[in-house]
Amino acid sequence: MSVKPMPVATSISQPFWQALNEGELRIQQCEDCRGFVFYPRNHCTHCMSDKLSWKPVSGEATLYTYTLTRVPTLPELADEMPQALAVVELKEGVRVNTTLTGLDESEIRVGMKLKPVFHKVDASGNTLLRFTAEHKALDIIPYNNPFESLNRNAKGQIQVPISNLAAMSALANNEFTDWSEAITVDQALINAFADLSGDNYWIHTDPDKAAKDSPFGTTIAHGSLVQVLQSRMQFALPFEVVGFKAMVNYGSNRLRFPAPVPAGSQIHARAKVKAVDATPKGMQLTLEVNIHVVGQERPSVINDLVIFYR
Ligand SMILES: [Zn+2]
Repeated sequence: MSVKPMPVATSISQPFWQALNEGELRIQQCEDCRGFVFYPRNHCTHCMSDKLSWKPVSGEATLYTYTLTRVPTLPELADEMPQALAVVELKEGVRVNTTLTGLDESEIRVGMKLKPVFHKVDASGNTLLRFTAEHKALDIIPYNNPFESLNRNAKGQIQVPISNLAAMSALANNEFTDWSEAITVDQALINAFADLSGDNYWIHTDPDKAAKDSPFGTTIAHGSLVQVLQSRMQFALPFEVVGFKAMVNYGSNRLRFPAPVPAGSQIHARAKVKAVDATPKGMQLTLEVNIHVVGQERPSVINDLVIFYR
């Protein structure tokens, strides 16, 4: 179980997805031959003209064909079984791959009249296009915010029970936390780490030689030093996982040092939940921690931390 895959809009298809978000179905029509085109493209499929414009359509459709999936096509879709994967034909003649919703298996018939259902799938209003029978009182499936009924702790973090799969799964998103406070990585700290680790390479510990010979013009911090300094930088996660017996730091799925940290730099950190997966070892949360020199766009450390809750 993890976050469901979402379509990625391209510059060509973006108007289609935008229209869905606005509760409208818009498809392309050729200005030369008036033919309708779907899926979104650069050229008319009837006459090859590149003069296509976006037109709102009613979504009146008939069921061209369908199949019921008894085995999830992806693990993330396990809670949607059986899925009614369908090809529907719009009144305008184009066919659309979709899923049927709000219908019992026994109600589905090839040739039946259908209408669109706008399924809001996240808090930012992203919408997928489903279809249901014309006579059903179903036009919109609202976003079901799995955090809505949950409590907050004294720090204001949403308390997400490990057993609440919908909420656990919804933790993964592309939003970073705010930046932590900044800390300074000075030569004394770098020297202390050199003593501790035994890594006395001049690029870290010899400012005079580094001024002459280093491509950075100064000494730089060890990547592993910057990585462990993460513990000194508190970024505020918007949630707290609760209701587990044990939490295990399982290490890192990916550790990269893309940019140097010159001695004397200020660094700060932020994080985002990259993935949440149910595994035989327990609930696995992958937290991507990024550490940057303040003001630098390129991170100095990318660390995908893996945490197990059970
Ligand atoms: Zn055309």
